[in-house]
Amino acid sequence: MRLRNIPGAEEFVAAHPLCLNDEVPLAGQWAEIFESDAPVELEIGCGKGQFLLTMAERCPDHNFVGVEMFDSVLMRALQRLDAWEVPLSNVRFLRMNAEHIDTMFAPGEVTRLYLNFSDPWPKERHAKRRLTSARYLSRYDHILIPGGGIECKTDNRDLFRFSLEQAEEAGWNLVACTCDLHYDEEMSAGNIMTEYEERFTKEGKPIFKMILSKPSSD
Ligand code: SAH
Repeated sequence: MRLRNIPGAEEFVAAHPLCLNDEVPLAGQWAEIFESDAPVELEIGCGKGQFLLTMAERCPDHNFVGVEMFDSVLMRALQRLDAWEVPLSNVRFLRMNAEHIDTMFAPGEVTRLYLNFSDPWPKERHAKRRLTSARYLSRYDHILIPGGGIECKTDNRDLFRFSLEQAEEAGWNLVACTCDLHYDEEMSAGNIMTEYEERFTKEGKPIFKMILSKPSSD
């Protein structure tokens, strides 16, 4: 998601008390940040935050971190958080490129990870940038609890196929999978639509979803 540069977005994001950045490593500090030991769930590429904020409202006994690298997008997410009908004390945003996500969470500090409509990076030479490439999966493996999982949704068949292949090669377990989420009764139960998902669904595109659990360490 790229919004045109919004004047003042950088300053707004930098000054927002619920938005952190990667200038100092935060690994191991999330219980202190949230003032709670509740499980931490992470969305990478959270865009304007609709999914994350709805999850946080629905699951008040979990903590939620939304990672996003663009200020103009993050500003919209933070404004939405500020305007949310009920106060959400279990949400933080983290402004960073997810490339270094494993420096911001300690091993086992994340219970679940969401990748919703990640950039497909269709050119082969950009494959390493895809958020489900092998090197990203190994970063997620590092920060997730044993048995922890990833949920990915996308409209992009090629990215979906690539993600399945990368996950299989890296020893992740495929827990569930659908090529048409909204027509899959079991997997769509309780589904929270993201901004992109709403748009693609209106265009009549099927939504792909997979749930992975991380490789066991023994
Ligand atoms: N999840 C939202 C937005 C999807 S667009 C939705 O489903 O509606 C993908 C988002 O991921 C964009 O906002 C983009 O800025 C962000 N993103 C892509 N690569 C990223 C990275 N390496 N680190 C952090 N954010 C990233």
